[in-house]
Amino acid sequence: MGALSTVNMYILGGAIFTLLVFVLILAFSFLRERKLDKMCNIKNSELLVSQQELQAAQTELLAVNDELSFAYERLNQQTNELRRLNQLKSEFVSMVSHELRTPLAIIKEGVKLTADGTTGEINDTQRECLNMAVDGVNRLSRLISDLLDVSRIESGRLQLAKKSVNIAKLLLGLKENYKTPLENKKISLVIDVKENIPFVFADVDKLAQIVTNLMDNAVKFSNENGKITVTAKTQEVMAVDNNTKLEYVEVGVSDTGLGIPREEQERIFEKFYQIGSHLTRQSGGTGLGLSIAKSLVEAHGGKIYLSSELGKGSKFSFTLPKYEGQKESEHSVKAEDQLFLEERQHKNYLTLVLEETIKMAFIYKTRFSLINIRVDNFKDLAGFEKEIELKKLETQVQHCVRRPYDKVVIDEEELVIVLPEADSDGGKAVERRILETLEKSGVKIKDQKIWLKIGRATYPENGEKPHELLKFAKDNLQDRPVLEASK
Ligand code: ADP
Repeated sequence: MGALSTVNMYILGGAIFTLLVFVLILAFSFLRERKLDKMCNIKNSELLVSQQELQAAQTELLAVNDELSFAYERLNQQTNELRRLNQLKSEFVSMVSHELRTPLAIIKEGVKLTADGTTGEINDTQRECLNMAVDGVNRLSRLISDLLDVSRIESGRLQLAKKSVNIAKLLLGLKENYKTPLENKKISLVIDVKENIPFVFADVDKLAQIVTNLMDNAVKFSNENGKITVTAKTQEVMAVDNNTKLEYVEVGVSDTGLGIPREEQERIFEKFYQIGSHLTRQSGGTGLGLSIAKSLVEAHGGKIYLSSELGKGSKFSFTLPKYEGQKESEHSVKAEDQLFLEERQHKNYLTLVLEETIKMAFIYKTRFSLINIRVDNFKDLAGFEKEIELKKLETQVQHCVRRPYDKVVIDEEELVIVLPEADSDGGKAVERRILETLEKSGVKIKDQKIWLKIGRATYPENGEKPHELLKFAKDNLQDRPVLEASK
């Protein structure tokens, strides 16, 4: 009995123990689950907050994206507008500069002749005033030709006629070219250039312009008794493919002049940039020389550099590719046509007149003629002499055209007479009248009888566009010596 109850006791104890363990396990898993639930809830609400934050960020990003697209669109529009304005500006500058050149040459010549005393005695004060006027006109001419260069470069109309150029010869000639300005400032010029330096592949006129711009500055910004050194040496540069070596010639122009402050050196190649402390405006500069030089060097595939120290001097160097048998740049007929068209697109005064006349002729279904006059004698005259003679001729021809809407236009070195409503016979009659008038007036060019080449074109049979009509007239020029006019 005693043993049985002991067994029962053990069984009961075991059951109670098992129950306890079971209850404990239950309680533990219950607690664990609650804890997990709690943690899940926290995590869930955290996730919810993050999700809301993400949504807010996404909305913000979408708004920023919209703003960016809008700004991009506006920037695009503004860029196009700026491009258009820039193009307009270049065209305007080019047209104005062309139109200013002729009257300026005439003013200059007139003032010079008066200042020299050729047109009669003048006193010293008058001479001084006139010389100042010549200086002003010279400055204006420089500005105009610089502006024309810039407009040509900016509009992409710069044409390089590249061939092999003997750079040593060009640099060695500087001594003679700069003789007077160097003597005036007692500047010594050393040209350290070996005769056997390789030829370069360049447009000789543009190369001369680069060197002149640098030399002019070196003289201008040197003090009295300064020294200018011109060097040329070859330089090898690895090509982008890292296999071939490209050979360049590096030209340096250094002076012992004012020097350029470090902080100004970056901007010195910008258009119109001048250093105030150099009082450059009094030295008659335009601030365009270096920017033109840089564009010209880069158009040749070279680079331009500056090293300078204030108060000590400056060195400008530039590189040009060595001539290695490259093919000369050709001006094919097509390219010339293209150039002709592009020049015309620059809308000089003549093109505008022709466009207007064509418009009227088209609307009213009438014809009109133009006469192109080229003066053969001009071949032997200097630039300014041509301009003066052309102006005289224009005045004479003005007397031969009778109707108020007939126009006589100077175009480069030629005259073009535009005769609205004149058919081919009408054009021929005006041509005859011009020759008779010139003959009667006995007008001569430098004491020689005038030899003209005259071509005519009539709208619409010889062309329907300004350049077509001009081309027709220029392609059909006939020799017309003035004294044989009446025959
Ligand atoms: P410009 O000489 O017609 O003013 P540039 O473009 O040739 O125009 O030169 C811009 C400016 O750079 C000059 O006005 C001058 O201040 C400075 N500069 C150019 N060359 C030199 C030089 N050799 N020494 C000192 N300053 C120079």
